[in-house]
Amino acid sequence: MTRVAVLGAKGRMGSASVQAIDAADGLEVVAQIDVDDDLAAITEAGAEVALDFTQPGAALDNVRWCVEHGIHVVVGTSGFGEERIAEVRDLLADHPDVNVLVVPNFSIGAVLMMRFAATAAPFFESVEVVEMHHPDKVDAPSGTATRTAELIAAARTKAGSGDIPDATTDDPDGARGAKVAGVPVHAIRSRGFVASQEVVLGGTAETLTVRHDSHDRQSFMQGVVAAVRAVADRPGLTVGLDPVLGLD
Ligand code: NAP
Repeated sequence: MTRVAVLGAKGRMGSASVQAIDAADGLEVVAQIDVDDDLAAITEAGAEVALDFTQPGAALDNVRWCVEHGIHVVVGTSGFGEERIAEVRDLLADHPDVNVLVVPNFSIGAVLMMRFAATAAPFFESVEVVEMHHPDKVDAPSGTATRTAELIAAARTKAGSGDIPDATTDDPDGARGAKVAGVPVHAIRSRGFVASQEVVLGGTAETLTVRHDSHDRQSFMQGVVAAVRAVADRPGLTVGLDPVLGLD
């Protein structure tokens, strides 16, 4: 049995994960940590793996604490862009026996959506990301949107693509969205959504839209269980579920 601690255990993703992990063969939840709980309960319970579904403001400190206490970490919390990833990499350099797996999106469909978007991006002049989430989400853009934009930018750089055309010079209210790795990203917060994303690609006289919808948090649980099972066998830092699914 792999002993697992869930951080953010009372939250939406954390509570669903506690159930999914407890129901999975070979895994057991031994610590459920929420906002005012002492992290020492993780080591006291003998956890080998921690799963973080807290908030962007808390997750990096949680990762640091776990790594310094020899516990592998799966990070599901948003906000792990390139800067934070670099911090985690530096941290792991001093703790070579500990592994961290950062997963911007645990749903299989979303992982494939990101790959399809990155594959298509060099073939189109224009590309923008539109992410749609429930209005209780506290951060924007989503971790998935950030990761998608980074993958798109990397694919375009590798292919020698030019800048995305945009003649806008007057945008006082930010209507053109955020720029992540040079890719415009737009965030919608609306009742009725769990987590959806469109990548809109535009070329001469054609557009291609790659879209993914999570209709329920259960869509993430297969990936959560796979990540928790895999992290101990993936040395150092891994970003994305792709290698866990055998896609790399
Ligand atoms: P949520 O319902 O607000 O849950 C977060 C929980 O963590 C809350 O119970 C919160 O307590 C608690 N918390 C806050 N700071 C903490 C700390 N320092 N230590 C321990 N617990 C702490 O949010 P959610 O919808 O579950 O989402 C959690 C995160 O996962 C978000 O960043 C979200 O974007 C991300 N997410 C990722 C994926 C993915 O596939 N990777 C999918 C969905 C969501 P309080 O409410 O008392 O503050």
